[in-house]
Amino acid sequence: MSCIFCRIAAGEIPAEKLHDDGELFAVKDLNPAAPWHALIIPHAHVATILELGVENAPWVGRVYGIAAQLAREHGFGDAGYRVVANCNRDGGQTVFHVHFHVLAGRPMGWPPG
Ligand code: 5GP
Ligand code: ZN
Repeated sequence: MSCIFCRIAAGEIPAEKLHDDGELFAVKDLNPAAPWHALIIPHAHVATILELGVENAPWVGRVYGIAAQLAREHGFGDAGYRVVANCNRDGGQTVFHVHFHVLAGRPMGWPPG
């Protein structure tokens, strides 16, 4: 298994899980782009958000609930945070297993780079 997030999902690479409900898990990003940076990742391998369809709506919807729960737990609810999914080259995707970044702890610029 070469996919890094599949290996974390399978427990082959140890990671401190912030959340795991069997379908989605969350870990801190290895190379944080903000003072607080987590990734919400489905256990199932899907390469890009381009492949998502209505059949994925239940777990994709739950991503935002988990992001809100994590943001509240870590004290970023009121100040705010950003949820981002990068897709393919122009989106800046580097790991080809769908994941949602949750960034917090500083003002996020707009438009994004
Ligand atoms: P992308 O660039 O695909 O949107 O995001 C991939 C993210 O995964 C990057 O922010 C990168 O720092 C993070 N990352 C890459 N390898 C690992 C790893 O082994 N563990 C964790 N926790 N994060 C990783
Ligand atoms: Zn994978």
